[in-house]
Amino acid sequence: MAATVINGKEIAKKVKDNLKNDVQILKDKGVKPCLVVVIVGDDPASRVYVNNKKKACEEVGIKSIEHAFGAELKEEELLQLIDKLNNDSSVNGILVQLPLPKHINEEKIIMAIKPEKDVDAFHPINVGKIMTGNPDFMPCTPAGVMKLIEETGIDIAGKECVVVGRSNIVGKPQAMLLLAKNGTVTICHSRTKNLEEVCKRADILVVAVGKPELIKGSAIKPGAVVIDVGTNRTEAKKLVGDVEFSSASEVASYITPVPGGVGPMTIAILMENTVKAAKLQSVK
Ligand code: NDP
Repeated sequence: MAATVINGKEIAKKVKDNLKNDVQILKDKGVKPCLVVVIVGDDPASRVYVNNKKKACEEVGIKSIEHAFGAELKEEELLQLIDKLNNDSSVNGILVQLPLPKHINEEKIIMAIKPEKDVDAFHPINVGKIMTGNPDFMPCTPAGVMKLIEETGIDIAGKECVVVGRSNIVGKPQAMLLLAKNGTVTICHSRTKNLEEVCKRADILVVAVGKPELIKGSAIKPGAVVIDVGTNRTEAKKLVGDVEFSSASEVASYITPVPGGVGPMTIAILMENTVKAAKLQSVK
């Protein structure tokens, strides 16, 4: 039987609708949540992401400010802007869209953002809080994935969870969130042997690799929940995930589509984090 498709767009809309109320409560208290998005260079995918983030801010009632620069921007200039934004009390969240041009050290930029304004949760302090299980901000994509799993009604506790990919942005924090929900977690990467066999153990499979349709239906346990984080453009400019949807949806019980699965959730969690930042900063 074909899997149920998890509608990320709809679930993201629910998250954003819930936030509207919180934003109104803050505004009634004179707090106007504000997110600053910084984009450097002219990467078309980054432009799409930034536009989607700004659109989501509008939907929720968050003020968004964009700072756009050409690829020649100097690292020092970006650091100066971050310093200014860190010290501007009307700014609650700062997001620097990655990737940055090669001459700018991303780690240095992430480190420069004040942890209480780091709504992407990339700063080591926020990463540490995710590790210890008491985060101020949730990692956007992994937390979005958790909400999608939650929607299936399946309890993660005791389940075999396999995460394919170990990036700092997705794979590693994803594993931490699944572990926090008492999943038995395995992390796979490019050096994993017998990837298909390991994936086949999973009751819950999260794939974040960046390789079009790497995981086929033959690697999926019948009845598994399959979450596809991958976003890849084929030569024909079609957007596909890391999972081969046609074969995987024949075996899984639930599956996310690409597009319309994880992508909208990432942005919804970013909105949650921005509202949380405004709340935390307003009680200081
Ligand atoms: P990275 O390139 O940072 O990490 C990719 C990971 O996949 C690495 O850990 C790598 O292993 C692993 N990997 C590579 N090849 C294989 C393989 N053949 N078998 C098993 N593992 C492999 O990517 P990101 O985590 O940033 O992103 C992953 C995907 O998710 C991309 O398509 C990206 O566009 C998408 N994405 C989507 C988001 C959304 O909101 N929908 C948000 C963020 C990302 P190793 O560490 O050994 O190199």
